[in-house]
Amino acid sequence: MKHIFVLGGVASSLGKGILAASLGKLLQARGFRVTNQKLDPYINVDPGTLNPYEHGECYVTEDGHEADLDLGHYERFLNVRTHRVNNLTTGRIYQSVIDKERRGDYLGHTVQIIPHITDEIKRQIMLLDDEYDFVITEIGGTVGDIESLPYVESVRQMKWENPADTLIIHLTYVPYLAAAQELKTKPTQHSVKALQQAGVQPDVLVLRTEHPISDGMKAKVGLFCNVRPEAVIQCLDAKSIYQVPINIQREGLDDIVLQSLGYDLTTLPAADMTQWQSFLDKRENAKEVVRVALVGKYVQLHDAYMSIRESLSHAATYNNRRLVLTEILSDDLTEGNIGERLKDQQGIIICPGFGSRGIEGKLVAIKYAREHNLPCLGICLGMQCMAIEFARNVLGLTDANSAEMNPDTMHDVVAMMAEQKTLLTKGGTMRLGAYPCDLRDNTKIRAIYQTTRISERHRHRYEFNNKYARDFEQHGMQCVGTNPDSGLVEIIELKNHQWFIGVQFHPEYSSTVAAPHPLFMDFVRSLCD
Ligand code: GLN
Repeated sequence: MKHIFVLGGVASSLGKGILAASLGKLLQARGFRVTNQKLDPYINVDPGTLNPYEHGECYVTEDGHEADLDLGHYERFLNVRTHRVNNLTTGRIYQSVIDKERRGDYLGHTVQIIPHITDEIKRQIMLLDDEYDFVITEIGGTVGDIESLPYVESVRQMKWENPADTLIIHLTYVPYLAAAQELKTKPTQHSVKALQQAGVQPDVLVLRTEHPISDGMKAKVGLFCNVRPEAVIQCLDAKSIYQVPINIQREGLDDIVLQSLGYDLTTLPAADMTQWQSFLDKRENAKEVVRVALVGKYVQLHDAYMSIRESLSHAATYNNRRLVLTEILSDDLTEGNIGERLKDQQGIIICPGFGSRGIEGKLVAIKYAREHNLPCLGICLGMQCMAIEFARNVLGLTDANSAEMNPDTMHDVVAMMAEQKTLLTKGGTMRLGAYPCDLRDNTKIRAIYQTTRISERHRHRYEFNNKYARDFEQHGMQCVGTNPDSGLVEIIELKNHQWFIGVQFHPEYSSTVAAPHPLFMDFVRSLCD
């Protein structure tokens, strides 16, 4: 059992998550059992209460944990499910230590960052040990942040306690000064010095760069930082995140990691990346495009709908198309401009979300798609909006709404789930994680999944109101997927339309490179007909 830590320096947003997932992919492709873990230094117990402006998309694991979006990358790259234990925050660590203190578990001792907080961090890191050969743990933030100190200290201790089985990778940035036409390694040297001051010596340096770094420069950085020159590797900007595993394989990162951890390379197979490479080739060779619009209120934020973007891009690749995604801010949509805004689109996705901003624009887009036979996939709030639009414009219930937007509406076609009504706290209390759903025979959804029972992940407080199900059915909106235990409507599908499906769950959380999601696959396929 080996632990690999990935720490970042110089700047944030260097792609630690992608690097960690890419290394995981390479080790997996050499036959090892690998998982990735993310430690987030902020005090929130989980990112579920964070606004997308703060933190991008909130990802949800099958076991119902609201998680950092890097877990999405881990699943998409490795095609292995992650769980609550794959994502820790300072809030969770402290909560657990304080709970123990209140129970009296510390037997009268003073509770301190070292050893109690660091012991708890190490305990949680090691929870994954039994199942995997490698746990690759990414520490959020940048070296030098006050908040990450206990994590860096825990890494130091783990290396000290078990040097042969612990490896530390430091990802930094090498800026290019255009005026001087030079790459600068000084920030990297300073960042490594900061790590060394905390007692941590990196084994491998990965230098993120926009221009190739010469061997001489790598040797110089290695010399300054006590790192063997061959363990200094570059990570050049890539066209796509899925190119990164191949790029770092070329740089020999997996070999260096395995060698440093005492493996004999002559006895190990090289990483078999044939399937991965054929996915990349398909992307590269796609001649035709597929045009999809994302209708949501956070479209200007690249990370807010990360999993939807990636799921669509997997589906486009496997349908031999290049995805052209247009982001449409729902706040701006009106009956007057919708035709113009959607005129080049082959299909639209109505995004998930919370609160009333942008809702009326989503309804305008849904009406247009319904009336013009434009393929439309509604996800979570998107599905709820499909129900509202249908109730208003087809059933004639003009004030139909979700109780989330208007608690006093006469026609709450979307209502708060019963178990939600008595809850007093917001964190981790939505309907979260995977639930089963039965699919009705002779429906499009049944043909898409080719099975009678599916399991998909959820994150919501409101539900389709079954009181209206019969009226919907009689007018052509079928309730085609229901939870076998509660009868909750999870999927609606419009008859006599090319492709018009709303899902209460989040299919985007489970599309991977190796296994693209059937719903996105069929949606994109229908646009290519
Ligand atoms: N706001 C809606 C609810 O809570 C939808 C949530 C979502 O889109 N994730 O039910």
